[in-house]
Amino acid sequence: MELISILLLAVLNTGDIDKCAEAHVPNPICATVSHKSEPALIVGITIDQMRADFLHRFEDHFSDRGFKRLINDGHVCLNHHYGYSPTFTGPGHAAIFTGTTPSVNGIIANDWYDRELKKTVYCASDPEASGVGNDGIDGMDGTPLIYNTAGQMSPQRLLCNTIGDEMKLATMGANAPKVIGISMKDRGAILPAGHSADGAYWFYGKDKGHFISSTYYFRMLPEWVKDFNNSGLAEEYCKEGWTKALPDEAYSNCAPDNNPFEGSFNGEVRPTFPYNLKNLKAANGGYDVIKATPGGNSMVVDFALAAIDGEEMGKGGACDLLAMSFSATDYVGHRCGPHSQEMLDMYVRLDRELERFFNKLDEKIGEGNWTVFVTSDHGAAAVPSQSSAMGMPTDYWNHGNLQDRLEVELDIRFGPRDWVENISNNAIYLNRSTVLSAPAAPAIIRRFVASLCVEEKGVLMAVAEEDLASRASVDPIIENLYRGHLQGKSGDILLVLNPGWMKYGRTGTTHGSPFPYDTHVPCLFYGNGIEQGVSTKRTYTRDIAPTISSLLSIPYPNGTTGSPIFDALSK
Ligand SMILES: [Zn+2]
Repeated sequence: MELISILLLAVLNTGDIDKCAEAHVPNPICATVSHKSEPALIVGITIDQMRADFLHRFEDHFSDRGFKRLINDGHVCLNHHYGYSPTFTGPGHAAIFTGTTPSVNGIIANDWYDRELKKTVYCASDPEASGVGNDGIDGMDGTPLIYNTAGQMSPQRLLCNTIGDEMKLATMGANAPKVIGISMKDRGAILPAGHSADGAYWFYGKDKGHFISSTYYFRMLPEWVKDFNNSGLAEEYCKEGWTKALPDEAYSNCAPDNNPFEGSFNGEVRPTFPYNLKNLKAANGGYDVIKATPGGNSMVVDFALAAIDGEEMGKGGACDLLAMSFSATDYVGHRCGPHSQEMLDMYVRLDRELERFFNKLDEKIGEGNWTVFVTSDHGAAAVPSQSSAMGMPTDYWNHGNLQDRLEVELDIRFGPRDWVENISNNAIYLNRSTVLSAPAAPAIIRRFVASLCVEEKGVLMAVAEEDLASRASVDPIIENLYRGHLQGKSGDILLVLNPGWMKYGRTGTTHGSPFPYDTHVPCLFYGNGIEQGVSTKRTYTRDIAPTISSLLSIPYPNGTTGSPIFDALSK
C-alpha cells in the first residue's frame, strides 16, 4: 500500500478529520484532504523596501480593490519579520522563495567579498551566461556587447531550490507548471524564479527600454517578449513623467516636498514634483530613469500580463507560478526616504496598479482560481539626518581608517602580518592563512578584533563568528546575524551599528540592519485556499514558502527552515 493511502487510512480510522474541523486544529493532513480545488496560478509579489507601517500610513488613499482587497478578504500577518540580517534585496528575494535564510541559501548580501576569488561578487552574476534580448545573444559571433554585464546573470549562487523548483519536481512532463520571474532588477526576477524556471526577465534601460534575460534560460526571447519590447511602452512612461496623483492636501502628513533630506535626480535642482522624465532621461541612464518612478511598477504589471497571455499561465493542468517584484519603491526610498511625498505617491499609484492587475487576473484566470501573496524584501530606516534634525540619536558611520587601526593593533598583539582582507557589509574579513598560522587560536584573534571594533563610535555590537550561536539564543538581534551568516563564506566579525545609524549619504535612506525598521514587513495572502483573518503572532519570511507548499500539498523547498503559517490556509 502506498504511504499516502496508509496515512489517509490512519487519519480516517482515528476520526482526525472531524477532530480537526471541530477544534480548528491546523493539521497539514487535514488541510490536504479537505482541499476542494487548487489554484491555477500562484502570484508571489515582492515590493522592494516596503515597510510594514506603509499599509496603515497610506491606507486612507488606497482603493478597495488593490491592497485593501487583500487586507479585507485575505489573511494578514501583522508581526511578520525577516529573521536575519543583512536585510538586502538579493537575500530578501532568496529567503521568500527558498523558505530559509542566508545561512542556508547562500545569498548573504547583494554583493559580497568572495574569499576564494579574492574579489567582490554579485548575488545573481554568472560569467558563463550571456544576455538575451531582442537582438539575440549578447556578443554572439564576435558582435559587440550591448548589455555589457547586465545579461550575465543566473541563479547559480543560490544554494537551495525554490517554491517554483518544487512545483516543477512535483509535476513533470506535459503538465509541468510554468514558472516565470519578472522585475526591474535582475536579482528580483532571477532568485524568486529559481533554478528550473522557464524564464526570468529584468529591465535594461539605457537606449533600449527592454526586458532582457540570459542564456541560462534560453538562447532566444519568446515572441511575446520581443513584441512587448517593440511596443515602445518605456517611451510612453517617459513621456508621461511623474506628477502627484492626489491633491496637495493629501500629502500633509509627509515631509515638505522640497526638503534637505531628499536626493535629486541627476541634473535636477530640487527634489520636487512634477518630474519631467523626458528632460531627466539623458542624465539618468536613458530609460533607466523609469526604474525610480511609478512607470517602473506599471511596466512590471504590463509585462506580467503579457507573460500570462504569452505563456498561457493559469490554463494548464498544474498550478503555475508568477514571481513579480516591484523595484521602483526601493529606488525612491533610497533617494527620498520613507516619509517623503514621493513615497506616498508611489504607493497610491502602486495600489492602483495592483487593482488593475487583480481585475485582470479575475478576467484571465477567473476569480477564485488564483492565489497571491504580497510581501517585501526588507524595510528601511528613517533618513538619519532627518530624524537627527528632530532630536533623535541617529547618525552616519564610515569604517574610515578602521582597517589601518586593526592592522596596527593586531601587529602589536600577535606579530606583524597582513591581517584584514576586506571590510564590507558591516563585516570584517580576516586573512584566513594569516589567522591559521598566527601564534594564537583563531577565536582569540577574532574576539580581540571584535573588542577593538566596539570602541568605534556608532558600533553597538561586534561579534566574532564563534560567539554567534551562543549569543543568538539570548539576543534576537544576534539571532538575526546568526541566520544571515554562512559558515566559511561570511565575515569573521560582524558589526551592528546603533539603531537608526547607517553607512550612507546624508539624503535618502538604506537598509541592511537587524532592527525592526528593516525586518518588519507586510505579509498578505489572498485567494484560493486562503483563510480570511489576521495573524498577530510573530511570523517570518522563511515561513512563506512552506505555507505555499502546504497550500499546494507539495514538499517544502529543499533548504526550508521556516514553518507553514497554517492560520492563513483554508481548513
Ligand atoms: Zn534598497
